[in-house]
Amino acid sequence: MSLIVHKYGGTSMGSVERIRNVAKRVAKWQRAGHQMIVVPSAMSGETNRLLGLAKEITDRPNPRELDQIAATGEQVSVGLLALALQAEGLDAISFCGWQVPIKTDAAHTKARIESIDRTAVQAHLDAGRVVVITGFQGVSPEGAVATLGRGGSDTSAVAIAAAFDAAECLIYTDVDGVYTTDPRVVADARRLSRITFEEMLEMASLGSKVLQIRSVEFAGKYKVKTRVLSSLTDPLMDLNDEAQSGTLITYEEDPSMEQAVISGIAFNRDEAKITIAGVPDKPGVAYKILGPVAAANVDVDVIIQNASHDGTTDFSFTVHRNELAKALEVIQTKVQPEIHAREITSDNQIAKVSVVGIGMKSHVGVASQMFQTLADEGINIQMISTSEIKISVVIADKYMELAVRALHKAFGLES
Ligand code: ADP
Ligand code: ASP
Ligand code: MG
Repeated sequence: MSLIVHKYGGTSMGSVERIRNVAKRVAKWQRAGHQMIVVPSAMSGETNRLLGLAKEITDRPNPRELDQIAATGEQVSVGLLALALQAEGLDAISFCGWQVPIKTDAAHTKARIESIDRTAVQAHLDAGRVVVITGFQGVSPEGAVATLGRGGSDTSAVAIAAAFDAAECLIYTDVDGVYTTDPRVVADARRLSRITFEEMLEMASLGSKVLQIRSVEFAGKYKVKTRVLSSLTDPLMDLNDEAQSGTLITYEEDPSMEQAVISGIAFNRDEAKITIAGVPDKPGVAYKILGPVAAANVDVDVIIQNASHDGTTDFSFTVHRNELAKALEVIQTKVQPEIHAREITSDNQIAKVSVVGIGMKSHVGVASQMFQTLADEGINIQMISTSEIKISVVIADKYMELAVRALHKAFGLES
């Protein structure tokens, strides 16, 4: 008998009917002899609705209170799911993050899990109960409810699987696995039956929201066997078929597998660009600009600095769109008085498109093929950043879908 963790996303929990299907599926796994922990998200649309209410009251909601509000979506879900499991004839009990407890740091709205106490939950598992635990939330050192950032239920599930040494963590969602790119943007995107952990990490960090990045980090750190699969199939389908379906994250490169150079294309519209023109080109300037930004807890992504001209240079970087106002304020009040730049501008009509593939390690020419494809479509590249297994470009927002489709075709990723 092994312990299995199931995670169900918003669409999978989207109606009473779907919650009943989740209960049927979980019951099937439990009756096959597994101990089960189930981690649901809020019903689809609910977290947006809750955050929208807060925004109606104030533009700058206090993050602690925002968490207090947002976390309720998952509390409703666990209660409903526990009832549905009981209606299936199972013994089931639900927990909120603080009741487990799942302890986090104090970074409200983007808290990190620090520890998970097994004691209470284990006793219920040992008594034969299905344990349902809220995704997306934990409890801060001050005892306040803290949420893990959008998409955080993935992270809850994988972290719980790690803490309980689960045999597998199954992430049930509204697509039947990880695709070469978002199947909602490219209709002939292809499902990958396996993806290496490194590739999944890049895809997630570059915007493929099928898994939250921190869930992939947890999976890698604790080598959690993790699979992404559909919750929209017949809940009573053969368990062995189901257990083989979807996309498995792998931790070793399989030398027998023929490796595609590019495995996927990720994109996001979550960033904004800040350009500081006419910065004195001397040692310490990058630090003078980015030091205060980091001190304000704003993450910086792509950075470029141009060649010097007349002793000055232009410096650009991207931040999350939600943090643009905060970053600009820091630049105006803390950085500009020190560096006296000629001009500070920003642009939030940008998108980042990335090609990802482990095969890039041993292949040259990926960058030139990417740039040629974009050039053929008349798309101007504003910024470039690369790592061993990815190349990202920042382009105008309005060309994003065109770029993704053209690159998907150029790299032969279609099914
Ligand atoms: P859940 O509510 O189950 O957590 P999400 O909406 O967070 O679901 O994530 C699933 C969605 O991720 C899919 O509906 C799909 O549109 C999107 N997605 C983005 N990139 C990919 C990809 N490469 N493969 C599969 N789905 C992707
Ligand atoms: N309900 C949360 C959100 O919408 C967490 C999740 O779905 O993973 O972001
Ligand atoms: Mg999600």
